[in-house]
Amino acid sequence: MKQQNVDPAEIEKFQSIASRWWDPESEFKPLHDINPLRVDYIESRSGKLSAKKILDIGCGVGILAEAMALKGASVTGIDMAEMSLKVAKLHLHESKLDIDYQLITAEEFAQQNAGEFDIVTCLEMLEHVPDAASIVAAAASLLKPDGHLFFSTINRNPKAFVLAILGAEYILNMIPRGTHDYKKFIKPSELASAVRANQMEVIDITGMTYNPLTRHYRLGRDVDVNYLMHCSHQ
Ligand code: SAH
Repeated sequence: MKQQNVDPAEIEKFQSIASRWWDPESEFKPLHDINPLRVDYIESRSGKLSAKKILDIGCGVGILAEAMALKGASVTGIDMAEMSLKVAKLHLHESKLDIDYQLITAEEFAQQNAGEFDIVTCLEMLEHVPDAASIVAAAASLLKPDGHLFFSTINRNPKAFVLAILGAEYILNMIPRGTHDYKKFIKPSELASAVRANQMEVIDITGMTYNPLTRHYRLGRDVDVNYLMHCSHQ
């Protein structure tokens, strides 16, 4: 069997705490806190989400997928963590939303559904896979010709090491220690060249910063640590 682009240790990290994921005060608090900002970014750049066909790659328990479905989008969520998808499906009973969750790799899903989606999102996931470029290629091939592609990940530089690892994992204890591996962080230039290698272009890069005093996140021009990227076909 062909080797899958999946790191089992990474999958285990997330699914071992999947049952707490929907708790906004759990170790997933940062994802809950940034979610409205990310949904606004996606909607402001691709137009109203209602009736759009969206794929969320690395959906976890569906925080982003549900927020987009709530806006009327038809959402499919894929992830390789079985427990997280179970929690995602259970949560649909509470939210009364309809989302198609599937346990499948992006690469395999792309073979079956090429060119089908108006929007593909892949947020906070690239830094957890062995081969990020392969996910970028799969995501690009899943888009309709006029589709919109969104990524978010963490930049790789000394400031990102200090804030995203030392700060978030060791000093502020915002997320579990060992969540991130510095070597897997991705510079915007590296992500942009992976995007261009798939005949797509980068339309925007926006930073996401955290102020530990006010405990607020905001979008802006500082892409030194967390950033979002919007891409489309040339
Ligand atoms: N995208 C969500 C969750 C981010 S956490 C959000 O931003 O809110 C990272 C997610 O990526 C986890 O759910 C983990 O199970 C998933 N993941 C890690 N490696 C993966 C892979 N190779 N294929 C699919 N999902 C993967």
